[in-house]
Amino acid sequence: MKLLEERILKDAEVLPGNVIKVDSFINHQMDTELISKCSEAWYEAFKDAGVTKILTIDGSGIGIACLTALHFKVPVLFAKKSNATSKVTDEFYSTTVVSFTHGHEYNVLAKKKFITKEDRVLIIDDFLANGSAMRALISLVKNAGATVVGCGAAVEKVYQGGGEYIRRLGYRVESLARISSLSDDGKIEFC
Ligand code: 5GP
Repeated sequence: MKLLEERILKDAEVLPGNVIKVDSFINHQMDTELISKCSEAWYEAFKDAGVTKILTIDGSGIGIACLTALHFKVPVLFAKKSNATSKVTDEFYSTTVVSFTHGHEYNVLAKKKFITKEDRVLIIDDFLANGSAMRALISLVKNAGATVVGCGAAVEKVYQGGGEYIRRLGYRVESLARISSLSDDGKIEFC
């Protein structure tokens, strides 16, 4: 999506460790007009897929997922990080994610009663890098016996291979800005 690519070139910062900071328009301050355009693009791509639920992960995906869900007129479920108030119990499906930005592993949970085997789930997140977050979300849906209709990432860092891995598993992945390379001096190139 041209608009998103242009915004990344204009306002994103490249941090050490291959992290692209988009906190002036997606991850902290949110440009709702831009995000609404992203959600329209996912709606166009998946409108005939019978989506019944949007699934995302605790944190920066939630706002994007909510605007997307408005188009589909379905609920948003976000996989919660497990902590003192949401511990792994029988009530939950649980899986682990390796955090790209912090490097550690953590558990995410989804309450069983919120995903049924009749659900057709669209997974939405801000970034797709190594694919750990999306694979975790896919596994939560599969644990429930529900169907993943596809995945949408605002930004895919194609060179990290997570998107290719998920496509090879047979899932449709629609990324709106596809970054082919990030040079040492912070230059971003798109596919
Ligand atoms: P993955 O699990 O695909 O390796 O990484 C995806 C997750 O890590 C996303 O949920 C996102 O929050 C975070 N992430 C990965 N790469 C970046 C990045 O370059 N910038 C930001 N802001 N987040 C990233």
